[in-house]
Amino acid sequence: MIVAEQKPIAEIISIAFKHKSILVVGCGTCVTVCFAGGEKEGKTLSSLLRMKAQMEQKLLEIEELTVERQCDHEFIEKIVPLAGKVEAILSLACGAGAQLIAEKFPDKIVYPGLNTTFLGITEKQGIWKERCLGCGTCLLDKTGGICPIARCAKNLLNGPCGGSQEGKCEVNPETDCAWQLIYERLKKLGQSECLEEIIPVKDWSTSRDGGPRKVIRDDLTL
Ligand code: SF4
Ligand code: SF4
Repeated sequence: MIVAEQKPIAEIISIAFKHKSILVVGCGTCVTVCFAGGEKEGKTLSSLLRMKAQMEQKLLEIEELTVERQCDHEFIEKIVPLAGKVEAILSLACGAGAQLIAEKFPDKIVYPGLNTTFLGITEKQGIWKERCLGCGTCLLDKTGGICPIARCAKNLLNGPCGGSQEGKCEVNPETDCAWQLIYERLKKLGQSECLEEIIPVKDWSTSRDGGPRKVIRDDLTL
């Protein structure tokens, strides 16, 4: 899933206070799971903004709505009636959702309420970790299911840098060395021979080198 964190409340207040009315839009998918921008967070944030506005005797109308997914045209249609009533929109989705809202409402100022961080997993309650950089050519089959691009600080494809200490990365000693993990897992799976295969220099054209990417499925397009 996409992992994100809410922007500092002082920043959100200063954004909201530029306007007389604002619509806070939550997203019911990834950012709900990571407790950053779902319905609960949208309601809490809206209440907080209302209280702050009242305390400072600031005129601020707040509308609030959570849609199933902000990155999907189908769901953001629901925002149209409320968007017509406000000066600006505060999106509590990832950067993709916030951008679709901006595309959908070209005459509205759209603010991101979250900082989008990475593609990752929930390790346990309250802890999320990065797992994928969306490189476009997955090579997990060669590395025991552990991504050296997302999990090695130097994105090394053919073994460790030599700087790890006791299984920890030299760049951040709180992080496991990805190549130590890969080695241990392949050994456990009886696939150590995978380590002998030289992974060629990566073709980054499937990643971000060619600019924004798109996926087209002819069998699905109308
Ligand atoms: S190899 Fe690429 S697609 Fe596969 S997990 Fe790593 S970054 Fe993601
Ligand atoms: S110590 Fe391990 S994870 Fe860290 S940069 Fe070197 S090889 Fe990558």
